[in-house]
Amino acid sequence: MKDKLAKRVGYLCSICEVSTSGPSDETSGSVNNIGVAAHIAAAAGGPGARRYDASMTPAERSSIENGIWLCQSCSKKIDGDAATYTVAALLELKKKAESTAKKRHGRKMASSEGNDSEIKPVLHGASFDETHRAVIVCADIENVGRRSTTVGRVSLEIAGRIHQASSPPQGIVLHGRDWFKLPVHRLRGNDFFLGAWHFGFSFPSGGERIELPIGTTEAVLRLSAAGGNDQSIHLRIERAYVQQQDSVVAWRRVFGFPDSGDE
Ligand SMILES: [Zn+2]
Repeated sequence: MKDKLAKRVGYLCSICEVSTSGPSDETSGSVNNIGVAAHIAAAAGGPGARRYDASMTPAERSSIENGIWLCQSCSKKIDGDAATYTVAALLELKKKAESTAKKRHGRKMASSEGNDSEIKPVLHGASFDETHRAVIVCADIENVGRRSTTVGRVSLEIAGRIHQASSPPQGIVLHGRDWFKLPVHRLRGNDFFLGAWHFGFSFPSGGERIELPIGTTEAVLRLSAAGGNDQSIHLRIERAYVQQQDSVVAWRRVFGFPDSGDE
């Protein structure tokens, strides 16, 4: 009965969803279990009994219908607050946990942050570098996926055209960190990284010429992590002016800020 309760919710606590079962290194066959098959209505009456129902038969009290799979902490919690954790509330939690387990069954687990994305980029700054005639974008990348992941591609989309980030010169340090070495950067679980990317044609590894058509007001920075969804940051182009570099190309200065950012 205990084993079935646990299996019906994938060995996750029915309240807080922590994993309740894992290996113990004591022997090659040892299991470290922190789960409890808790009684919804108490197994026996008396002082300290919670949700005891005198009308139930002993068989009903020990049945699987009267059990809920919890971690040790949540099992203490439900026995310290029978006002919140009523029979009806616990039956509802159990139902919800089993229905979640059914949806999750046979699928890859999402990250425990409840976010399917592996990385979370936050714009640090963006500017047009007049010397190199390129856009430089700096962003913090937080690895929220808790697993090692690889940032594989960084691009900037302006007026429907996608520019791949060029490899920056080696050896330049920004805020105490090396320049992002494209095309890949490995992030460990929960890593935080500040990356800076050049988008422009002046670099040895060959970015593309950045042109901003008149009226362009938006750009999108895209980051891709292996196995995750693309992440985007919207840049607003401001303070544009035309600077004649030669007879062909008109350059404009851009400053990007996140849509919600303060300036
Ligand atoms: Zn729990």
